[in-house]
Amino acid sequence: MVDTEYIRSQFPILKTVINGKYPLVYLDNAATTQKPLAVIQALTDYYTNCNANVHRGVHYLSSLATDMFEQARQEVKDFIRCGDDGQVIFTKGTTDSVNLLAHCLAKTFLSKDDTVLITQMEHHSNIVPWQIASQDYGFTLDYIPIDNNGELVLDKLYKHKDLDKVKVLSLTHISNTLGTVNPIKEITRFCRQHNIITVVDGAQSIAHQIIDVQDLGADFYCFSGHKVYAPMGIGVLYGRKKLLDKTDVYQGGGEMIKQVTMEKTTYNDLPYKYEAGTPSVADAIALGKALQWFKSLSVSDVTAYEDSLLEYALQRLDEIDGIRIIGNAAHRSSCISFVCQGIHHLDLGTLLDAMGIAVRTGHHCAEPVMQFFSIEGTDRISFAVYTTRQEIDMFISALQKAVKMLR
Ligand SMILES: *Cc1c(COP(=O)(O)O)cnc(C)c1O
Repeated sequence: MVDTEYIRSQFPILKTVINGKYPLVYLDNAATTQKPLAVIQALTDYYTNCNANVHRGVHYLSSLATDMFEQARQEVKDFIRCGDDGQVIFTKGTTDSVNLLAHCLAKTFLSKDDTVLITQMEHHSNIVPWQIASQDYGFTLDYIPIDNNGELVLDKLYKHKDLDKVKVLSLTHISNTLGTVNPIKEITRFCRQHNIITVVDGAQSIAHQIIDVQDLGADFYCFSGHKVYAPMGIGVLYGRKKLLDKTDVYQGGGEMIKQVTMEKTTYNDLPYKYEAGTPSVADAIALGKALQWFKSLSVSDVTAYEDSLLEYALQRLDEIDGIRIIGNAAHRSSCISFVCQGIHHLDLGTLLDAMGIAVRTGHHCAEPVMQFFSIEGTDRISFAVYTTRQEIDMFISALQKAVKMLR
């Protein structure tokens, strides 16, 4: 059972009043989640009691900061059930993780004849880094298209005409626009049989379902802290040790080295080999706290709760004339995009905001999805564990009002 009243009491920002009148209804969780007191306090506590640089000092604060930083890595490791410390690399977020991978995988494993596959439903941060790497390293970049329901046309992979050229597949676990949950296990099983390295963008899945990277079978899994109740500026790249050991380094600097002479450098062991420079220590510690906090709610209960909210919201949206839901996948999660006949998504979002409802408007960093559906943008609502049915009712009433005013 998810006790939303108790959970909401731990999020100070949810008490915000809009226009001195409306209680905030925050339905933009796919863009970023709010932070519970445990996370806010972890940040304050770090800067109050233990701030020092990590891994470098013998003094008291430095070893305290190092212990807490490594404890946070342990939390991440436990949360995604990945088995080995060396496989959890702290990054700035999903975007940073994908850029690292696009560059390093291309440099280490890809030749001009090879193909990397992405999909048509990716966030820009899982498209653009591959386009850049493709220009730099000369591999071919191709994609798995989507159908009218917003599901992947997987025959593009399964029956790829040059399957032995496909070396990497990078795809999202859950679409941030369509809500589609992709069948990652089935896909990674196929890829393993065909020696295709798999990269999973977990930015939308990390906060909505149990993540067991070994069970998912992906070689790499990336996520951002701020989408799972942790601060911005911290994220994770999980990678299989065997691959990470072989892969070339990314950025150079302190911490990622074993020994430096004026002539040459030898590199540090995993995971430090990929953590050049001073990391975002406080944010990593707060991420550990966020995952601990989130896990204490029981993630499977959270999934069931959010699924029931999704069902309810879809049903209520169906009551309103002229609403078209973008994305109708059989397996979906946590967000709904829609357009309203005759009304611009931005006008609708602006009016909803005036009534205290925070929704997302625009292309959601997924312009190819908009192009596929021949639309400019959508309005999107997305849920978190503190979202309530009552808020969905408030959203629907506001939407009915706004639609009447704008038509
Ligand atoms: C938010 C998001 C990203 C990018 O995350 P950043 O935190 O901006 O790096 C990538 N993919 C998906 C599916 C997202 O929702």
